[in-house]
Amino acid sequence: MTREFHRPATIAAALTLKRDLGAAATFLAGGTLVNSSRFSGRTGPLISLDGLDLGRLEARPGQIALGAGVTLQALVEAPVVPAALRQAALLVGNRNIRNQATIGGQIGAMEPHGALLPALLTLEASVVEALPDDGTAAPGAADLAREMTGGDGQGRSSRVRSLEAVLESGLEGLLCWVHVPVPSGGRGSGLARYARTAGDLSLLHAAVSLGRDGDRLDRPIVAVGGIGPRAVRLATVEQALAGAVLPAPGEIATAVEGAVDPRSDVRGSARFKRYMAGVLVADALARAWKDTFEEAGR
Ligand SMILES: Cc1cc2nc3c(=O)[nH]c(=O)nc-3n(C[C@H](O)[C@H](O)[C@H](O)COP(=O)(O)OP(=O)(O)OC[C@H]3O[C@@H](n4cnc5c(N)ncnc54)[C@H](O)[C@@H]3O)c2cc1C
Repeated sequence: MTREFHRPATIAAALTLKRDLGAAATFLAGGTLVNSSRFSGRTGPLISLDGLDLGRLEARPGQIALGAGVTLQALVEAPVVPAALRQAALLVGNRNIRNQATIGGQIGAMEPHGALLPALLTLEASVVEALPDDGTAAPGAADLAREMTGGDGQGRSSRVRSLEAVLESGLEGLLCWVHVPVPSGGRGSGLARYARTAGDLSLLHAAVSLGRDGDRLDRPIVAVGGIGPRAVRLATVEQALAGAVLPAPGEIATAVEGAVDPRSDVRGSARFKRYMAGVLVADALARAWKDTFEEAGR
């Protein structure tokens, strides 16, 4: 059981606490994971993010800015949020869980099968992180820090990275914003997932975003989750599909199977995951292609 609980009122205070309390300290957002059996062995201090005003959802020119504390249910209910992200949020647990769970917690948890991650990758999301102030602020960092805190001017550093880079190397600070570019008109999106039972957590996900140029695929973006140790884009599959006529499902599956490197674990054998990756991407691609026609009709 945790013996120490902190509720800082500023991002700077949260970062200072994290630095002083060390690796045993954990940020607490909605707590759906931190309070679950998955974390039961951890008794280190908790740093609640509740007082940091991270729950804003803003439509800005060309992008949606999501505070790290935006709940998954808020994503589902906000019409300005791209459809792919709303649909992905809807896959998580049930309404009670979604009312607690946050987008910051979904990314911070870095779970390979996190339901929102493939969709966020196909939307080319980026992440604003506040870092402990070590004097290495990047140009423009002061503006970002002001943006994050409403201008309390506490001089900390911040950095923007693509979600892809964050998933590859991990978070180093406090995730404050997720920036999601608004897809240009006519781009379609598709999701597909595998769960052991209808009500169970989805273990494998695929997400696709693409445009249509006549009968050809325009800039397809393909991501999978739950197959390997983290959610990833499949660059070789994207390259093979770019400018092509929609291939048959079997052809897509073969390309995907050659691009993933699954590991056997409690959720399934490597062979099963490789096979399912092909099936799910083919499904998601077909849905995204169909969606481009629906987008054109909107
Ligand atoms: C019954 C149940 C069903 C679930 N079903 C699903 C499902 O279907 N799909 C799915 O993907 N997940 C599922 N989850 C997991 C969970 O709900 C999500 O991963 C959720 O998004 C976590 O958000 P949270 O705010 O609760 O995070 P928390 O539990 O508070 O934190 C999770 C991790 O992220 C870190 N963190 C949180 N916020 C930040 C931040 N701003 N900056 C840096 N680090 C941060 C924390 O330190 C912690 O390590 C389920 C959980 C439960 C209990």
